[in-house]
Amino acid sequence: MELKLYNTLTRTKEAFKPLDPARVRMYVCGPTVYERAHIGNARPVIVFDVLFRLLKHLAKENNWGEVVYVRNITDVDDKINARAAERGISIGDLTKTTFEWFKEDVKALGCLEPTHEPRATEYIAQMIKMIEALIATGHAYPAEGHVLFDVSSKPDYGKLSNRSVDEMIAGARVEVAPYKKNPMDFVLWKPSTPELPGWDSPWGRGRPGWHVECSAMGEALLGPTFDIHGGGIDLVFPHHENEIAQSECVHGGAPLAKVWMHNGFLQVEGEKMAKSVGNFVTVNELAHKWPGDVLRFQMLMTHYRQPIDWTEAQTHSALRELEDWGYVLSSYYNMPSLPVPEEFVVALSDDLNTPQAISVLRELYVQAKKGGMENIRLFASACKLLGFKNLDKPGVFEFGVSGENVRRSALFEHEDAVVRLRAAIANSQSESVRQKLISLIEGDDLKVHVTTDGYVILKGADIAFVNTVESLVVARNDARKAKDFKESDRLRDELAKMGVVLHDKKDGTTTWEVAR
Ligand code: AMP
Ligand code: ZN
Repeated sequence: MELKLYNTLTRTKEAFKPLDPARVRMYVCGPTVYERAHIGNARPVIVFDVLFRLLKHLAKENNWGEVVYVRNITDVDDKINARAAERGISIGDLTKTTFEWFKEDVKALGCLEPTHEPRATEYIAQMIKMIEALIATGHAYPAEGHVLFDVSSKPDYGKLSNRSVDEMIAGARVEVAPYKKNPMDFVLWKPSTPELPGWDSPWGRGRPGWHVECSAMGEALLGPTFDIHGGGIDLVFPHHENEIAQSECVHGGAPLAKVWMHNGFLQVEGEKMAKSVGNFVTVNELAHKWPGDVLRFQMLMTHYRQPIDWTEAQTHSALRELEDWGYVLSSYYNMPSLPVPEEFVVALSDDLNTPQAISVLRELYVQAKKGGMENIRLFASACKLLGFKNLDKPGVFEFGVSGENVRRSALFEHEDAVVRLRAAIANSQSESVRQKLISLIEGDDLKVHVTTDGYVILKGADIAFVNTVESLVVARNDARKAKDFKESDRLRDELAKMGVVLHDKKDGTTTWEVAR
């Protein structure tokens, strides 16, 4: 199977051939850890997780060796310093907590752990070495405690974002500083005041610029040239442009990465996400309400290079669809996998065409629904390649709340906790989180029952209510037997008002449940 990937550098879709088939290497820029990740930040995490899974799959098919995926953590940055000062906490505490939050989010979204997750602060020595090499070869210069990259020393600077230095100056709000030779020269190293994080260097105590962090971590873990470098589209300029400039100059012109991939941007409910607009949605908030599979599914319904408008209406429809899939798959999902249907891999191999792959999944679902172990298991193996982890538990995708022997008002009252409990089960939140939610719901006459397939059912002991319902059900059945349909309909409506849904069985009996 040929994998084709769109390369931002060449602006074409190219056939992918690993530089070293024994070791396929991918680097993706990870988060700057100063606040909770929003749903836009989740996009590259999910998109490149799918690519990582696909590469692993293709590695087996093509006899490639390991797939090495590096996603860094930027834990030294001016945004971090500012936020820590604002919150009156130490920088170490801020980055540690934010990294923990990020790990929880990524787990909820069902992403595999990258092979390496380097933190920038662990690679300061390599950054200093890289900067020294740039100075030694005339590509960088120290000035007033800073070290700057000299863009005029790299004639093809701007090749990724496809703009010349003059266009950049005209178009960008560049920081003009007296110590810069050219306004586009960018910082490799800057001086730190005593309260800011800093490391000793040949240019005094200071800290690295953001771009050199990724160049150094990429080199340390993947070597001077690797296969794929990814991130969001906003990183093309200046971040990736500058990574290319630094790394190529240090490595005698060897390219930093063969393929450059960028995901499109995500906006929420029709507008750019912003706290002031009130549409700033964190992954954490969503993961307490929805199974991560739903968020992953919604994200992958759009091709990664297209913009996404994230709406709650779409989250609902993703939830419903996965519940249907889960019904069909539940007890088969954890059986040993069959080969993934070729059509599905073909779709993904076409520049990660997830919308097309999802159309194939929908066809596989139709076949699986008709029955037959083989069809169901083929559908399951395709779903697994996309990273869905809860299709053995359709109950976590249920909408609303259901109960037995309870009044509808109790269902309304506990809806929020039930929704959170289902998300906690789906997103592998800790046992204590689940217990806390259960204890919010449970009382003398209400118990929570979680089935093995993920359904949360509230079981009540409201005997008076149950007796009333039962006697109305009997009265309705008597009316039906007597062909008094007006009366039987009236009783059905009365029951419906109480939130009772009736199920008339073929054998003439009737069961009921409370649902909303
Ligand atoms: P940051 O922590 O700001 O460096 O961002 C981490 C990653 O999220 C980068 O790859 C960004 O390109 C990406 N990103 C940030 N905002 C969005 C957005 N609204 N839509 C898609 N990707 C985004
Ligand atoms: Zn980076």
